[in-house]
Amino acid sequence: MAGHIFGRSTRGQLPTAVAGDGCYIVDADGRRYLDGSGGAAVSCLGHSDAGVRAALHDQLDRLAFAHTGFFTSEPAERLADRLCAAAPEGIDRVYLLSGGSEAVEAAIKLARQYFLEIGQPQRHRVIARRQSYHGNTLGALAAGGNAWRRAQFAPLLVDVSHIAPCYEYRDRLEAESVDAYGQRAADELEAEILRLGPDSVMAFLAEPVVGATLGAVPAVPGYLRRIREICDRHGVLLILDEVMCGMGRTGHLFACEEDGVAPDMITIAKGLGAGYQPIGALLTSATIYDAIAAGSGFFQHGHTYMGHPMAAAAANAVLDAIEGRDLLARVRTQGDKLDAALRARLGQHPHVGDIRGRGLFRGIELVADRETRAPFDPARKLHARIKAEAVAAGLICYPMGGTLDGVRGDHVLLAPPFIIEDAQVEELTDKLSTAIERALA
Ligand code: PMP
Repeated sequence: MAGHIFGRSTRGQLPTAVAGDGCYIVDADGRRYLDGSGGAAVSCLGHSDAGVRAALHDQLDRLAFAHTGFFTSEPAERLADRLCAAAPEGIDRVYLLSGGSEAVEAAIKLARQYFLEIGQPQRHRVIARRQSYHGNTLGALAAGGNAWRRAQFAPLLVDVSHIAPCYEYRDRLEAESVDAYGQRAADELEAEILRLGPDSVMAFLAEPVVGATLGAVPAVPGYLRRIREICDRHGVLLILDEVMCGMGRTGHLFACEEDGVAPDMITIAKGLGAGYQPIGALLTSATIYDAIAAGSGFFQHGHTYMGHPMAAAAANAVLDAIEGRDLLARVRTQGDKLDAALRARLGQHPHVGDIRGRGLFRGIELVADRETRAPFDPARKLHARIKAEAVAAGLICYPMGGTLDGVRGDHVLLAPPFIIEDAQVEELTDKLSTAIERALA
């Protein structure tokens, strides 16, 4: 078909978005959709933020693009300084890119180059977790832990093995304490490092709060601290992927702050540009950067649009809004209200197994049987039905299917804009409950 977009969005099959208005997206027929998931945890400031629009107009009037091979730019330098100032201890170098997959790709390459430069070329393996998503480029795809996503592209370019995610609702044994479970989950990492041979492992990659694949599942308290200790013990770098859960989504600018853990690298994207510009970033320590600077002097990575002034201007305006309007506190209060509203409406539902998350990052797991926690038959495609019913009811949410391991069921991820009002929390909960009922009918 002439003019067909090669991808998912196809004229006639999906509504055509024409305008944004705060927490709503408006389509060509004038229908309004409450954006209960920020798209995919992207639109943290909603859709028509005056500050970001003004900053982008201003930057466009000054300078749209200057290649980083020749120039730096004021917005990029300012953004890097601000991210470093806000980041956990030890993180003080920033690499500005165009999205989440690029940031994960850069993290894997930076780890590899670091070990080459410090004379440990045998360290090339990555450990990640099952049911994880880290992006769709070849390296990031290799890191992700969904067998069905990886299978058709095997053999993949990076040697990655996968351990279990820290998923208390699904994996904790009846008699076991949360602490014992966190220890057991972390022990899996050490066992895997020992199995592979510690001298061959360069990095462990994980999301502090798992987003798309499991639906806002935070690690249990203490897990990340134990992971940090294990990585330190074996000289393995800890890379935290905060592409989805970072940039304030959980009520902290970086999700790992709540766990009191400082990784060696952090990837961010999505909320960084809040949908106003495509941007991602890799944050890392001076130790890693300096080893490369003192060695070959140059990180072998780079993209034409890295450090883009327009993207950096948008991200600076997002940080201005988060800081200037005290949005992290707002994420926490509105997040608590959303959690309470979800529990009131769905907490006793016979097919809602779990409601969890932090801040404005919430997940609801649907189960066939609340007692046994048995998931629905994947063939039923409950998640797809919920999505269709939600859209019909004027709600954008992010349902995902059972991850095909036969254990984990369907879930809905919620990640509304930080500016969500109380009445919109109610609207979201109402529409979601309606969509779930209709999908189950
Ligand atoms: N990491 C995580 C945790 C993500 O959720 C995503 C996107 N869903 C990515 C990486 C990839 O980001 P992008 O789609 O911007 O390439």
